[in-house]
Amino acid sequence: MKQTVGSEQAIVLGGSMAGLLTARVLSNHFAQVTILERDAVHDRPESRKGQPHTRHLHGLLGGGFQIFNHYFPDLVETLAQSDIFFGDMGENMNWYTHGGYRRPVHTGLYGATMSRPFLEYQVRQRVLALPNVTLWDNCAVKQLLTSPGGQQVRGVLLEKRGEDGANTSLDADLVVDCTGRGSRTPQWLKELGYEAPPESEVKVDIGYASRLYRRDPHDPRGQQWTLFTPDAPGETRFAGIFPIEDGRWIISMGGWGGDHCPGDEAGFLAFARSLPALDIYNIISKAEPLSDIIAHKMPSSLRRHYEKMARFPQGLLVLGDAVSSFNPTYGQGMTSAAMQARELDQLLAKRPSLQKLAPAFFKRAAKVVDIPWQMAVGEDFRFATTTGPKPPGTDFINRYVAKVNRASHHDAVVSAAFLQVMNLLAPPTSLFHPGVLWRVLRGGKTAAAAPTYQPVQSITQTGHHV
Ligand SMILES: Cc1cc2nc3c(=O)[nH]c(=O)nc-3n(C[C@H](O)[C@H](O)[C@H](O)COP(=O)(O)OP(=O)(O)OC[C@H]3O[C@@H](n4cnc5c(N)ncnc54)[C@H](O)[C@@H]3O)c2cc1C
Repeated sequence: MKQTVGSEQAIVLGGSMAGLLTARVLSNHFAQVTILERDAVHDRPESRKGQPHTRHLHGLLGGGFQIFNHYFPDLVETLAQSDIFFGDMGENMNWYTHGGYRRPVHTGLYGATMSRPFLEYQVRQRVLALPNVTLWDNCAVKQLLTSPGGQQVRGVLLEKRGEDGANTSLDADLVVDCTGRGSRTPQWLKELGYEAPPESEVKVDIGYASRLYRRDPHDPRGQQWTLFTPDAPGETRFAGIFPIEDGRWIISMGGWGGDHCPGDEAGFLAFARSLPALDIYNIISKAEPLSDIIAHKMPSSLRRHYEKMARFPQGLLVLGDAVSSFNPTYGQGMTSAAMQARELDQLLAKRPSLQKLAPAFFKRAAKVVDIPWQMAVGEDFRFATTTGPKPPGTDFINRYVAKVNRASHHDAVVSAAFLQVMNLLAPPTSLFHPGVLWRVLRGGKTAAAAPTYQPVQSITQTGHHV
């Protein structure tokens, strides 16, 4: 007899961005959704111990923003009432790469800059306002509970912190692991007699350092996002500065292959000064710091191929960074999690059998991850220090993408096409469309010409709040 996925209780492990988005979509299909989060969670924007990366610059790509807006239709309106900056991702992006600024172009693709804790708080409030979703904080999940042969996950064992380490069990029809890169599902699977999923790991040895500064709300530079990305292999450094809520700037800088941004005052400023243009240095050398300099190391991009497993227990899924954690400089993690959650929503709407749910979901999740993975890893292989499985055709694609980057200094069509791909709104193959290809090949020849960057004042006139 076909056993369909039960619709009573779903449990989500981890209450960060992937966990919240997953709870949102599960609320469409289950009577009760419970999020279990190890940290204490307060009713305010915060960076918790279990997600130290949220203290660094986070950009939400256009592809992710669209999904967030779908599941939280009032989000834009609320952001508009706060002091969040909205802008066209082409017009308001001040992006220096491959020896010049990309040509500003109207894309109709809007983005907003805010701190990661602020965005997560907005999402969390909306998810917890749903009548069938609850969050239990201070709950560390210790183990999966299964049917006697280990074939079906039936719940979890958890430790409620602050209650003398008391262990409690919670039953569920479906458990979704959203505990991030450090997910223990591979270990739990082995304990249950399954294989761990095969992994792909591409070592990048990235070192970030980030800091908050006070921002004058009248400073026109606060109407832009500024990014620096390197022309590898000669350059290895990246940086970004975003205007965020509460009159602040957030800046993150770093480098590939061990060229890490120092965490001391003088080293941090010197790193900003070493970038090919002084936009960031000019801001932070005069602005008042509002935080310490915080460092974060990211050794590798790591992907777990659950889609390749021959045996997997029923009633268990894995989503978000626990499936794939990318080199963060490409800003893909939240969008990948949102796309995976949307796939889960669409799959559950088809009421699959319990046996088919995990293989079908992991197949869909792998399809979602394939593109950002190939983009991130492919780009990383422009650096001689990167090691790991290199996708076929990477060198050819990288040579072409370098031309795309140079052509985007001059050519608005190429610039817009690139932004669509980078925002995960168009497939990378769209850069080979004849209408783009001939411009790239022509633009590449004029790459040495002066960049067409417009002074900030003129761009400000096009920036706006929704
Ligand atoms: C430096 C840096 C910069 C980044 N910049 C960007 C960016 O610009 N744009 C972007 O889209 N993405 C970015 N990312 C990636 C992004 O942060 C993640 O993709 C996103 O947070 C989704 O992660 P997640 O929810 O899957 O996991 P996480 O954010 O790691 O959350 C896991 C959660 O699970 C909880 N947990 C762990 N173990 C247990 C347990 N046993 N029981 C209960 N709870 C548990 C943790 O406390 C935590 O809350 C960046 C990442 C890094 C490291």
